[in-house]
Amino acid sequence: MVSLHLKRVVPGLTALVLLLALGLFRLKSNRPPESYSAVNLVMDTYVRVIVAADNRRGAAACQKVFAEFKRIEQLMSSQIPTSLVYRLNSGALRQADDPDLAHVLKTGIEVAKLSGGAFDPTVGALVKLWDVESPEPRVPPVDSIAMALKLVDIGAVKVESTRVSFHKRGIAVDLGGIAKGYAINRGLQLLEGLGIKNALIDAGGDIGIIGERPGGGDWRVGIQHPRNPEKIIGILKMSGGAVATSGDYQRYFMSRGHRYHHIINPKTGWPATPAVSVTVVAPGAETADALATAAFVMNPKQGLDFLEDLPRVEGVIIYNAGTEQREKLDYLLTSGLRDKLRIDLD
Ligand code: AMP
Ligand code: MG
Repeated sequence: MVSLHLKRVVPGLTALVLLLALGLFRLKSNRPPESYSAVNLVMDTYVRVIVAADNRRGAAACQKVFAEFKRIEQLMSSQIPTSLVYRLNSGALRQADDPDLAHVLKTGIEVAKLSGGAFDPTVGALVKLWDVESPEPRVPPVDSIAMALKLVDIGAVKVESTRVSFHKRGIAVDLGGIAKGYAINRGLQLLEGLGIKNALIDAGGDIGIIGERPGGGDWRVGIQHPRNPEKIIGILKMSGGAVATSGDYQRYFMSRGHRYHHIINPKTGWPATPAVSVTVVAPGAETADALATAAFVMNPKQGLDFLEDLPRVEGVIIYNAGTEQREKLDYLLTSGLRDKLRIDLD
């Protein structure tokens, strides 16, 4: 992602949103409601925008959203050498003045505190070391992991107003766990500014919604089976708000029968276990995105308590209750979802 290692392709979920948003409606009416949908590859992710608008307005609105995603990627990617994050990470800049970066880092610092460090944007050196998407990924040597672990230090990143500064040599920030959510929020704000009342942005399975689906009624968001991309394990009904999923199936490599994925436990320096997929529902996409990554890192019961304690936040935690060789998936739901969501893991 924007090292922003953004999730690449989540065709199942994207397809489902579209199907349910547009397809089911057509069962009820012969004349489809005005709606426009477009897809673009940005932040290493297929981003789909659906807006309740005619083709002309819809196309223009979608292009604006894609341009905003691009702008945020150019600013926050840890892989694009001209980005602010890259230049701060490389030491070329000691500080930067930028309202978007300051905002996202501020949220990142808050979630880091709230989650007891399960979410930590200063995992940059570890993410780079693991480089799970490299053509020849390898488990790093333990002493390299120990060294990168020393650079995890959220206290060394300061944000004052719009100014961001780094206070530790070698520290690297990675906003892959939050920037996509921020881009979704910004995209929706932009659409609202254009007078659009009903819209959905799906960035690789992280989704932000305003209003109802075109034609009326809730949007239905499918949660993908973590081990079968063709299968949906449950459907969330949404009007407004956001959903984000962090999964060990999104970016990973296999080595000697082990799965090494992109969500790193900042305490150990290794990919987090035993969570397999965490879906969070929250009022905004930036929060949902960061919280899903945070809860993923925690042990499942702790993750559930963490989400349960947050107002207007719900979640589904799917984890491996078996062994690494013989997986047995189980799940936990926050109380607000227990009557609303049926999970089928078969
Ligand atoms: P997500 O898919 O939203 O869970 O984000 C995962 C991405 O966030 C990874 O690809 C990394 O870029 C970054 N990341 C990995 N581990 C962490 C962590 N513990 N805290 C914050 N960001 C992380
Ligand atoms: Mg996230």
